[in-house]
Amino acid sequence: MAVLLSTKPAAMALWRDALLAVDPALEIRMFPEAGDPAEIEAAVVWTAHDMAELRRYPNLKLIVSMGAGVDHLLRPPGPPPGIPVARLVDRMLTSQMGEWVLLNVLRFHRQDAEYRAQQRDRIWLELPAPVTGETPVGFLGLGELGLHAAGLLRSLGFPVLGWSRRPKQVEGVETFHGAEGLMAMAARSRMLVCLLPLTPETRGIVDARLLGALPRGAWLINGARGGHVVDADLLAALESGQLAGAALDVFQPEPLPPEHPYWAHPAVVMTPHAASITIPASAAPQVVANLHRARAGQPLLNLVDFSAGY
Ligand code: NDP
Repeated sequence: MAVLLSTKPAAMALWRDALLAVDPALEIRMFPEAGDPAEIEAAVVWTAHDMAELRRYPNLKLIVSMGAGVDHLLRPPGPPPGIPVARLVDRMLTSQMGEWVLLNVLRFHRQDAEYRAQQRDRIWLELPAPVTGETPVGFLGLGELGLHAAGLLRSLGFPVLGWSRRPKQVEGVETFHGAEGLMAMAARSRMLVCLLPLTPETRGIVDARLLGALPRGAWLINGARGGHVVDADLLAALESGQLAGAALDVFQPEPLPPEHPYWAHPAVVMTPHAASITIPASAAPQVVANLHRARAGQPLLNLVDFSAGY
């Protein structure tokens, strides 16, 4: 039996080698060279793979996302019925995202754009000192990534708030849930960090209403998915001064077309969906463990809940 890999050509060999380093007995097939479809027992795939294609493998037992998000796997037609989907929960993914959030929170908090502009114009001028304890940061999503980033900010003394689907208690974090909780948290968040999965409930959640509920001059940090943000509403909020700036890693579509206004916007800092990049050598042990579990009929790790959509 064999494992089908499907990702960008540049990452294919890295994934193969990482999986073989954990279990040298694995038979790896690199898409589109799948060989006999009946021999494929697991598919480890990234965003471009067509879910309809996976219906060709009659003995498929498991689909694994090469990242933490699974929106690309669940959109129609979705995975073949009855086949479980696992995502990655990986120490290195989590820590990279924590660094990216921290980078951008500190960039805004420490007036980096203003000081860079002053440097360019050779202006020697102290701006008012930022007060960490008076700069609440609100998190949309308190999952693997949100909780870790929230912990980093808490350790620096930022007041941290967080919103999740279900009620949650997290030490040192003021928690919210549900529609009312969302607006209540927004009203208090000088910075809003989005680390939600993209689901039918969360698509377009960062809209004029939510941005309008933030204190004037707030910042948005989106490391989740481009589909969470209504771009026209974000651009209008930046234009009106309701938002002071935005750090965006994710867009709709990706790559972002060259003519998109974000590229040249003075209040937008961008990275090309690079906040947290899967490192195959780090992720491979859990993928192989899940494959062994699937073979043995044991409970799988990091399973996606289809009804919740993440
Ligand atoms: P988790 O599944 O661990 O956490 C998701 C969080 O979002 C949970 O707290 C969950 O609530 C909350 N949530 C989900 N739906 C809703 C809703 N309708 N209302 C309120 N809260 C909701 O995900 P991760 O933290 O691992 O990852 C989050 C996302 O980050 C991924 O789905 C992916 O899209 C993105 N990502 C981006 C990367 C990048 O490089 N830019 C890299 C990796 C991931 P509850 O706690 O109640 O379940």
